[in-house]
Amino acid sequence: GHVHEKIDYVFKVVVIGDSAVGKTQILSRFTKNEFCFDSKSTIGVEFQTRTITINSKVIKAQIWDTAGQERYRAVTSAYYRGALGAMLVYDITKRQSFDHVARWVEELRAHADNSIVIMLIGNKADLVDLRAVPTEDAVEFAEDQGLFFSEASALSGDNVDTAFFRLLEETFSVV
Ligand code: GDP
Ligand code: MG
Repeated sequence: GHVHEKIDYVFKVVVIGDSAVGKTQILSRFTKNEFCFDSKSTIGVEFQTRTITINSKVIKAQIWDTAGQERYRAVTSAYYRGALGAMLVYDITKRQSFDHVARWVEELRAHADNSIVIMLIGNKADLVDLRAVPTEDAVEFAEDQGLFFSEASALSGDNVDTAFFRLLEETFSVV
């Protein structure tokens, strides 16, 4: 049973991006396969975990969530300390949240480890009719900056697991 499961690695992953892009819901989809329609910004819960197996190694992903500190430069360097991976989330229906992605990359370059693996996520892909960020813009930015990229939906669950597994696989290959 999983109680006695041997953990080979613990990977810290941080989730960042503007307020209301869906960071908490992406995390809850990945760790609990849940989406909460009336979620409040959670105060006090620092991280959630999910244990997965990659190449026969048991990896405990410890995924950190911001609790309303998304204002520019309000996330402290302690949040980034020891992080091996980052999920940088924007909302495909909010152009501003994509325009701010460059700032979040700067934050990571300033505070996180040089080798941190970054996955850019265009969330709320279920809201196609409200799209404000063309996929190609994000693909181009990600290529420029050396980020992995996927659109996803915390609501439908589309691509959430795939994106996390990809990030964790890439992280695994650099430890
Ligand atoms: P955070 O501030 O980045 O943590 O954002 P939340 O996870 O709290 O989500 C902000 C709002 O967006 C909430 O009203 C969520 O219900 C909604 N939301 C989050 N993810 C999705 C998604 O994939 N699709 C849609 N349609 N709404 C979403
Ligand atoms: Mg949140």
